[in-house]
Amino acid sequence: MANVLFTNVRIIDGSGGQPYAGEVLVQGNRIARVARGARTLPVAGVTVIDGAGATLMPGMCEAHTHFSWNDAATLSDIQRMPLEEHVLWSAHVAKRYLEAGFTSCVGAACAKARLDVVIRNAINEGLIPGPRYLAASQEITVHGGLGDETLPHIPWPEFSFGVLVSGPEEMRKATRMFLKYGVDSIKLNLSGDNFVPGAGADTTWMSDEEVAIAVKEAKMRGKRVSAHARSCESIKQCVRHGIEVIYHASFTDEEALDMLESVKDKVFVAPGIAILIAMLEHAAPYGITRQKAVEMGYQIELDAAVESLKKMHKRGIRILPGGDYGFAFTPHCQNAKDLEYFVKLLGFTPMEALLSATLHGGAIMMQGKELGQVKDGYLADLLLVDGDPISNIAVLRDPARMLAVMKDGVFYKQPTIASARSRWSQSVA
Ligand SMILES: [Zn+2]
Repeated sequence: MANVLFTNVRIIDGSGGQPYAGEVLVQGNRIARVARGARTLPVAGVTVIDGAGATLMPGMCEAHTHFSWNDAATLSDIQRMPLEEHVLWSAHVAKRYLEAGFTSCVGAACAKARLDVVIRNAINEGLIPGPRYLAASQEITVHGGLGDETLPHIPWPEFSFGVLVSGPEEMRKATRMFLKYGVDSIKLNLSGDNFVPGAGADTTWMSDEEVAIAVKEAKMRGKRVSAHARSCESIKQCVRHGIEVIYHASFTDEEALDMLESVKDKVFVAPGIAILIAMLEHAAPYGITRQKAVEMGYQIELDAAVESLKKMHKRGIRILPGGDYGFAFTPHCQNAKDLEYFVKLLGFTPMEALLSATLHGGAIMMQGKELGQVKDGYLADLLLVDGDPISNIAVLRDPARMLAVMKDGVFYKQPTIASARSRWSQSVA
């Protein structure tokens, strides 16, 4: 961990303020000084990175991450990957997220009980490269709901994507098992999903008694609960039970929006809008034509989600990127596409979209006072980006534009000196 000075950079600091030309000094794993202008910070004893006018911004946070989704088209094809391969795959994906500029990720469920925990621990111990990571449980679901992949003649739990529970005591047992394994959050599948025959996105599956026990057990140990909640009733369940991380939130009514607004300083909504668009536009090679996707209900859900999320955004409810990447139609590491959707579909300004991945990212990581901004004393999670994300947010999903990625004061994508020099000579020419 060297001391590094970024000079000649245009800083988007993640506070919401206008970008400015300046310098950033990193000492150890923290940002020691941020200064406006040029040649104000000392260069002695530090590695100087001349950004040649590139953008320096906080590392991004992906709020709905599934490292163990293996870019397959079905839940069964994900679940049936043998454990050993699955661990290696998850490690591989974690590294790619970091290199793509996601220095923090919030786990939103894994495909086998301990996958997320093992990857988080390996990252924290320095065994593998990866983002700061909050490990999730497997999905907990009920019979017939999303994630129940058992067949009538093969009712074995090993064949199920999610852990099946029936009743509060089984929920308590499943929750305690994952807490014992060391998860940071428990994932509940409250609503259905258009993916599942007979359990559409607007249906609700878990009883209040089951939800209440899971939340009680998790909170007793200081952990969080997140929920797959597409239906209106399931969103209300989240607010009623104090679930802070709400995934999808497609179908709302005035009551649901009022309830969300009443807890807007506590809850985070990560809609995963990319998967809805992908099912309609990109799933034909996997047997889901646009017509089939419409019949499955995806157009109705996308229209409802766009309306709901626009209203949430106007009410000041925090909406974060995270699009259920890791399916065949939403391959990993295109995650910054969500920010484009926020701008194109939900009425965000580009700056608001950027803050949803940075400022709010620090908050959902529960480190809002030291993560998600370029600010004196904050953790040194920084991106050097070729281009201006405010005028073209799409630069954030182009690997060639990601000139450098730093997490905790360490480069995981090194800026190349040669290219920095040529950029510099271009800029002075
Ligand atoms: Zn998901």
